[in-house]
Amino acid sequence: MRTPMIDYLHLLLGSVAEDAGEVASYIPELELADPDRLGIAVATLDGEMYAAGDADVEFTIQSISKPFTYALAIADQGLDAVLERIDVEPSGDAFNEISLDRGTGRPRNPMINAGAIAAHALVRGDDAEARAERILDLYSRLAGRRLSIAEDVFESELSTADRNMALAYMLRTVGKLRGDPADVVRGYTRQCSVSVTVRDLARMSAVLAAGGRTPEGDQVFDPAVNRQVLSVMATCGMYNSAGDWLTSVGIPAKSGVAGGLVGVLPGQVGIAVFSPRLDPHGNSTRGVRLFERMNHDLGLHLMAPAESARSVSRRLERDGAAVHEIAGDLHFTEAERVLRGFALEPVGDAPVVVDLDRVHRANDIARRMLLEGIRRLHEDGHDVRIVDPWGVLGSAETGSGELVRGEQAHGGYVPASFPDVASAARA
Ligand code: GLN
Repeated sequence: MRTPMIDYLHLLLGSVAEDAGEVASYIPELELADPDRLGIAVATLDGEMYAAGDADVEFTIQSISKPFTYALAIADQGLDAVLERIDVEPSGDAFNEISLDRGTGRPRNPMINAGAIAAHALVRGDDAEARAERILDLYSRLAGRRLSIAEDVFESELSTADRNMALAYMLRTVGKLRGDPADVVRGYTRQCSVSVTVRDLARMSAVLAAGGRTPEGDQVFDPAVNRQVLSVMATCGMYNSAGDWLTSVGIPAKSGVAGGLVGVLPGQVGIAVFSPRLDPHGNSTRGVRLFERMNHDLGLHLMAPAESARSVSRRLERDGAAVHEIAGDLHFTEAERVLRGFALEPVGDAPVVVDLDRVHRANDIARRMLLEGIRRLHEDGHDVRIVDPWGVLGSAETGSGELVRGEQAHGGYVPASFPDVASAARA
């Protein structure tokens, strides 16, 4: 079978044949872009990539760099230090607006230029080149290939960077930027000049969608940092059309003036499109339309979440034991259903089997809920046996991504001391 995914992407590109808007001209080199380019790539969290159109054409990342550099700044300095210098409120202003919070002097968020310049300055490195190199290493790790800087775009943008220079000097006057403003703008401009394709951007977005982890299992961002970045993208990623975007498309996103636009559906997919003509907000015109269509066709809106599986657990009787067969990934709502099933067991010493053979993942809250349920069944007098071949209860991930052993999290109850009754349960 030929997967319908690719056909769908072609259909999608065909649906935005008409284009409007202007290629960015305030950076001379960007004005040279072919305005008719159109490409799309969709990356799944397990590493599959679907692409159509101009998917191998390189363009500069521009403002799509901002969320990734913000993540690096937090990793380098800690969230509190970053929040002290950069707020997380949508500004309702254009991306290059010279606006700082009246009270605190902080740029309103890291997605507008003022905040992005401040975030760049917080990345460790002695000078522009050193910071840009670390940033390039990070983007390459996310993209899964070695990226490079488009030196022609960099020179062109730096030679016309008066406005960003003004922002950086202003940030220094209010104490929100250490170091030499010209050096910071130089490094920030290098960061914006990294050359990418939609395939690269889709993969980078898929890492954000996966809580900071690449398909190969490389945990690039701490899950808490990743969440911070996605939240800011959701509220501020589309500048002064952020509200419009969140209601009509409804996923964290980021645009760049070279025509790139990425969207992240947490837990599901990373998407990137490229079309250089921009709307008055500086967002790709056809890019926005493509996302609106995908939202409609694929049901991507964050506020219309998929309901959790109803059939997460079922109860069978086997050899005089009540077997709770549980299936699927477990989060709060699924764990609540499992507990509901446990709660129906009458008090007594009848054996209960908790069969997690079909569960490969549980988040920390689901794991703790299950352990507490098991502890209570035990307290009620049941002989509880656990089938946990994937180690879901013993090594589930916590929010910080580190492994916590069962004993630590729930006060002395040791699931490992129960015999593995996999064979008995299936006999
Ligand atoms: N490098 C561009 C700038 O600083 C990025 C702006 C953008 O992509 N919106 O103006």
